[in-house]
Formats: sequence, structure tokens, C-alpha cells
Amino acid sequence: MFWTLIKILFFVAVVIGLAYGAGQVMDSGQTVGLQIFDMEFVLGPMQALIALVAALVALWLVLKLLGLSVAVLRFMNGDETAIRRFFTRNREKRGLDALLSSMIAQAEGDGKAAIAKAEKAHKLLNRPVMTSLLIAQSAEMKGNTDLAITHYKALLDDNRSRFVGVQGLIRAKLDAGDTEKARALAVKALEMQPAHERTQNTLLDLQTAAEDWGGARKTLMVKKSSGHLPRDIWRRRDAVLALQEADKLAAKGELGRAREAAIEANRLSPDLVPAAVQAAQALVAQGKTRYAAGAIRKAWKAQPHPELAAAFAAIEKDESPTQRLSRFGKLLKLHPDAAETRLLKAELLIAAEDFPAARRALGDLYETAPTVRALTIMAAIERGEGSDDAVVRGWLARALTAPRGPQWVCDKCQHVHASWQAICENCNAFDTLTWRDVPDSSGPSATQSELLPLIVGSLPGPDKPKPEDTQEQVVEAEVEAEDGEPRKAG
Ligand SMILES: [Zn+2]
Repeated sequence: MFWTLIKILFFVAVVIGLAYGAGQVMDSGQTVGLQIFDMEFVLGPMQALIALVAALVALWLVLKLLGLSVAVLRFMNGDETAIRRFFTRNREKRGLDALLSSMIAQAEGDGKAAIAKAEKAHKLLNRPVMTSLLIAQSAEMKGNTDLAITHYKALLDDNRSRFVGVQGLIRAKLDAGDTEKARALAVKALEMQPAHERTQNTLLDLQTAAEDWGGARKTLMVKKSSGHLPRDIWRRRDAVLALQEADKLAAKGELGRAREAAIEANRLSPDLVPAAVQAAQALVAQGKTRYAAGAIRKAWKAQPHPELAAAFAAIEKDESPTQRLSRFGKLLKLHPDAAETRLLKAELLIAAEDFPAARRALGDLYETAPTVRALTIMAAIERGEGSDDAVVRGWLARALTAPRGPQWVCDKCQHVHASWQAICENCNAFDTLTWRDVPDSSGPSATQSELLPLIVGSLPGPDKPKPEDTQEQVVEAEVEAEDGEPRKAG
């Protein structure tokens, strides 16, 4: 600022000085005599000034020509820099033109021209970061992975472009199907910029696909910390990942750690049905049956579910049907009108051989929601009450073609799963399964295989069993269903 002011003042002073000088010369009326060889000139004041300026211009031209002659002489003596400097400007201009053409070709979607122009700019301009980036992007657009990798690697040398280079390499490795390398690069990229959301998502997808649950949980934590994931969603997803970790540990035979992971999953998301089921199993294995029952009740409060009922039954293995019925009392009180509660109550009463009470518990579900399970329960009640075999078979025949009721359905692709999975079998989406009705019940059946023992038991063979035997078989089948592994949807 100060310097600018000084310059302006100096300029004004020079102009005033010149004007004053010119005025003095004009006013003096003096002439200038000039003798060149034999000729003699007499110049007026104005003419003298013009002659002076012309002489100065001539001198400047002579000096310039001298400079070029010296450059040429030095070039002829083997010094190229002088001439090269003379042409550098021209080269830079052509380089920038090529750069622009490449960018335009890229925007137009012409990958081939974009690469050619970018390579030309790369040769002409001494800006490797800029031109390498342009070549890499053009090559990526054209699908020339090798060229893209070469130039993305070149970007790793410069601090400014290292992150974008790693990003490009991740994409190139993914295109080539090398997910292992892509995952390792994504870990590095996230270390460089932990808050970069796209890198977080890429890494999370890769870790989930590679079943690196521990790594995925860390990435999820980074995502939450950088504000890209609401706390409740983080808890739910972290619970799902912990559950997957538990499965993996159990498969490796590390049962202790597997149990801890399952309990952790349940702590993070008490409503998550599979977490509650696995946590209850883990707690029972640790001898903490009261905690196990508490975990199931909490999840049941959020949503009644047959797998929760099965896990709750498994807490006490050696109890009579009557004892079981009374132990389930607290659970059944939580959502007394829910279809799941009514079905469960009816099943428990059938096991306790109280068929009229089972009929009351079921109510009109066989009409309002005639699912496979409701109709099968009706068949069991009819048989328990000693109805005609034809009546029993009638219910079972209806059950065979009835809707299957709620299932684990992927919210993204509507694929129906026989059991809960963290990753959709069909579209590989993460944590998209919800327990709900499917309008179209065709597809793999989770229940029909379970129906078979009942149906076979009900069919009168050549040596027809006595009615009491038949009843006992039903009761046994029901008790087994309660005691066994988590009952599939039905
Ligand atoms: Zn899906």
C-alpha cells in the first residue's frame, strides 16, 4: 500500500518535471545545431525533442538485436538454454491448449481424445500433478485401468495429490476385482482423511463383504465420530456387526469370546431379535438364566417374535408344559392382543393339553389371519379335542396353501429369508431384513418342513393309532418345537 503510494507520487513528479522542462525549452526559442558528416541540421526545440526520442528507440532496437545475436552465438557454441527460453512461451501455450482440449473431451465423454490431449499436455507442460491427474481420470473414463493405475501412482509422490491418488487406485483395484488390495488401500485412505464419507462407506462395504467384522466396527465408529451416522443407527449397526463377529468366533471354536460378543450386541441394541436370542443362549451357557429371561422380555416388549419365544423356552429345558405355561405368563402379558402372543399361548396350552383354553387363546385368528401356523394350531386343537380325522385333515389341507405369515424380508429387494441374516442373500445389502408379512407367499418355505411331522402323525395308517396316542404325538411335537433350536418363522 505504502509502496504503491510512493510509486504514484514519483510518477506525478516525473510528469510535472517533464512538462516544466518542455515549457522551458519551447519558451527559450533556442535552436540545436546538428552536424552529421558533411550535412548540417538546425532543429527547433520541438524537433530536437522528437529527434532525441527517435534516437532512444533506435538505441533500444540495436540492443535487442544484439541480445538475440548473442543468444544465437551461444546456441551455436552449444548452449541450448538461451534459444529454449526463447521458445518456452510458445510451448507453454500449446500445452495449455492441449489441457483445455482434454478437459473438454472429458466433459463430452470422449475418453480416447481426452487421453491423447492429456498426454500431449503432459509432455508440453512441466506440471506433472495436474497432467497426471487428467490422464488418470481420462483413462478411468475410457476403462484403461493400467494407464489409470500408472498415473494415479505418480500422484502419490506429491502431498497435495496423495489422497486423490489412493482414491483412484481403490477404484482401479475394485474395477479389476481385487477387493483385498482395495480394502488395504481404503484403510490407508481413511487414515489420511478420517472424515471423508465416501471412503468410510467404501471401506465399510469392503470390510462387510470380506467378513472383517472387527474392522467394520472400527470404521463404523469413525463414521459416527465424524458426524456421518446418527447415534441410534450406529448402535443398531454396531450390534449387527458384533453379532456377526460372535458367529465368526463361534465358528472358530472361541465360544467364550463369541458369547461376550453376542451379549455386547444385545446391550447395544436390545430390540434386535437375533441379538436377544444369541445373548440369551450365551447367558444360559454362563448360568445366568435370570439375565437371559430379562434380555428376551426386553426384546419381546419391542416386538413379539417366535424366535424369542423359542429362546425363552430353551432357558429352562426340564420343565413340564404346565410349568412352562406359568413361566411364560409375564411374557404373554406384554402384548396380549398381538397375533404372535395368541399363537404362542395357544401352542403352550396345546402342550399342556388344555385344548378349549387353546381355542380361546387363538380366538378368530384362523379367520382374520389364516396363516400356516394358525391353521396348524387349529388342526392340533381339533385333534386334541377328539374331532373327526376328516376335520383335522381339512385344517391341514388349508394350512398347506395358506400364507406363511410374517417372514424375514429384505426391505431393499423384498427377498424372503428362512432365517435372519446381516447381509441379504439376494442383493448383499447390509442390515435390511425386517420381520413382516409378505403379500406374495411363494418362495422358500421356512415352515412347511416343520409341518410334515404333524401331517404324517395325523394320517391314519394301516394300523391306525388310538386317539390317545395321536394326542400324545401332537403334544410331543409341540414340546419339541418349543425346546428345539430357534423356531423358524411360521
Ligand atoms: Zn435384498
